[in-house]
Amino acid sequence: MANYDLIIIGAGPAGLTAALYASRAGLKTLVVEKGAAGGQIATTAVMENWPGTESISGPALTEAMAKHAKKFGAELLEFTEVTGIEIEGPVKKVHTVNGTFEAKALIIATGNREKKLGVPGEAEFKGKGVSYCATCDAPFFREKDVVVIGGGNSALEEAHYLAKFAKSVTVIHRRSHFRADKAVEEKIRAEPKIKIVLDSTVEAIVGAKKAEGVRMLNTKTGKASELKCDGVFIYVGMIPNSELVAGKVALDKYGCVITDADRNASAPGVFAAGDVTHGKVKQAVTAAGDGAIAAVMAEKYMEGE
Ligand code: NAP
Repeated sequence: MANYDLIIIGAGPAGLTAALYASRAGLKTLVVEKGAAGGQIATTAVMENWPGTESISGPALTEAMAKHAKKFGAELLEFTEVTGIEIEGPVKKVHTVNGTFEAKALIIATGNREKKLGVPGEAEFKGKGVSYCATCDAPFFREKDVVVIGGGNSALEEAHYLAKFAKSVTVIHRRSHFRADKAVEEKIRAEPKIKIVLDSTVEAIVGAKKAEGVRMLNTKTGKASELKCDGVFIYVGMIPNSELVAGKVALDKYGCVITDADRNASAPGVFAAGDVTHGKVKQAVTAAGDGAIAAVMAEKYMEGE
């Protein structure tokens, strides 16, 4: 006998929404989270695209979501890393640092993590001028010169946020066009503190005891140059946290879990939701939608439908 109907791995917007839907439907539900609940929104200062709220902090939204799921009986186990899963057969086993739990169905909602740039100085100066979280570290760079690397929505939105604190923000992007949405690009182009350097790669982060500059290469001219700065914020994309299910369910070439429209992964009774999946749009609200679908379909799976 499984001790739970449903175990959800990951307590970001996908996992917490799945927990709400499942527990409200009467399923005995456990959410296991390796850190604190919230996932990426836990470090998002301001969210302006959560429907119905013009502005809310990520931590406040997380707290409300967790409280909401718990109200219907979902159990939330934080700071509990999952070390392995067994998904063959009708009873799924989830091994964690705090023991093994069993369930009739699983939802993988483990999210994704930042990609590293992979240049000299990056690891050495992490926490010493190199950061992956403007929300966390921007206040340390008041009236300083910072660089943002990347051309997606994260890079540009965080550059805009950094401009509230820093003296100057230089966005360095490897191509001549941004990947980010036009609206975000227009917002940063209108900000006088933000400079844009295109067609340029960062080859190294340089400094003595902390980051003091970046060495760049113009990909069109082949010209190398150095830019002095006090901080380097890296936003070059995300890597799915799918190691737990690698070799057990189908992944795409980027390592994202492949699901069908009902959020079934390729093994029976295993569902996936949110940023760990292959969906192109990785937003808190789409992750939450995924979580709701996965929970409803997990319930139907248990009923044999
Ligand atoms: P992303 O969209 O994958 O963008 C990554 C950026 O980093 C791209 O511009 C890419 O360049 C660049 N890059 C990748 N590897 C690099 C390398 N080795 N050296 C230099 N540059 C490199 O990632 P993201 O910005 O983290 O966004 C992830 C997802 O979240 C996206 O779907 C995004 O739309 C979404 N998001 C949405 C919002 C919002 O709507 N509020 C906010 C943040 C994120 P290329 O363009 O040349 O490939």
